[in-house]
Amino acid sequence: MSPAGKPALPVVQGPQSLEEFMAQALAMENEAVERYTELADAMEQHNNQEVAQLFRTMAGHEAKHGRRIMAEMGWLAAPPAKLHARSWPAEAAPETLPFDDVHYLMRPWHALQLALAAERQAEAFFATLARLSISEPVRGAALEMQAEEAHHVALIQAWIEKVPKPDPDWATDPDPPRYTD
Ligand code: ZN
Repeated sequence: MSPAGKPALPVVQGPQSLEEFMAQALAMENEAVERYTELADAMEQHNNQEVAQLFRTMAGHEAKHGRRIMAEMGWLAAPPAKLHARSWPAEAAPETLPFDDVHYLMRPWHALQLALAAERQAEAFFATLARLSISEPVRGAALEMQAEEAHHVALIQAWIEKVPKPDPDWATDPDPPRYTD
């Protein structure tokens, strides 16, 4: 049964083995690292060092998690995550950041809101997989992943408490970029 008010996620098919589950989880981690790094690079180009640094720190967390998965599974290279399309709940890929919401003047507070949304989505995703109870090892691994993502959520929430809330006019650039050709 799904929690009141929340429609059950449409599930195509869960991962069938622990290897399959971990391969997909690793692919997700690597994708998150890539996204956070891209965002950090973009912020750096706009001289927004504060937010760039923040995204780099998140990339570091996800990379560490990815390395732990590799170590746990005894993998030297990331295995192909071949069943990606049909083996996961049919929702948007978890832990992806909405690029459309990225503004070059964004403050750390905004960046953290994006990261929070991505980490919450990842947590919910693993919770769903754990509920599918495909097999005991997969369930256990999903619960572990969920706890890890919950930790990321808590980390970001604590971080949000520490950064100033942006001014209402944060998007106004006193020195707008000039494009010359
Ligand atoms: Zn995470």
